[in-house]
Amino acid sequence: MLTVSHVLAGAAIGAAVPDGPLDNGFAFGLGVASHYLLDTVPHWENWFGKEIHGLPSGTPLTKMPPISIASGAFDLVAALTLFLFVFIYRQEPLPVWESAVFWGAVGAFLPDLLDNVPFISQLVRRLKFMDWERRFHDWIHIPDEAKRRVPYLTGLITQLIVVSLSLYLLLG
Ligand SMILES: [Zn+2]
Repeated sequence: MLTVSHVLAGAAIGAAVPDGPLDNGFAFGLGVASHYLLDTVPHWENWFGKEIHGLPSGTPLTKMPPISIASGAFDLVAALTLFLFVFIYRQEPLPVWESAVFWGAVGAFLPDLLDNVPFISQLVRRLKFMDWERRFHDWIHIPDEAKRRVPYLTGLITQLIVVSLSLYLLLG
């Protein structure tokens, strides 16, 4: 899914974790789990898979067309902006690492950070002990073939539902 969907879902999960000595750890773990779960839902996205906008994954940023970079950057900026808005609106504690909302969002972004963000994913690919994570992420994610068949609007609507529901839980 898009980063904005993952991050807001993770933040909403973090907000739902009851206060306690391990709440940030729980928020982080449940955030990671939510990432894999949401990747099973038909959706549309930028970066994931063997193809990125028709390019093989692992294509360096310098070889990507500007539209791919722009849509990826827009997704990241949208995720960060909405997260900051939610964080301030909810008057979450500072520093950020004391907030379960923050840790839920970080956990929910982590799998894509490791596997699909240029530069970082190239580094992680060199770590053989991380292979299992990439294989699991690939396995649980809806296949590229299926993704290509998801109509553009359907792929966005599933995420619109995730984003709206998360915002409702976070701001309601
Ligand atoms: Zn993913």
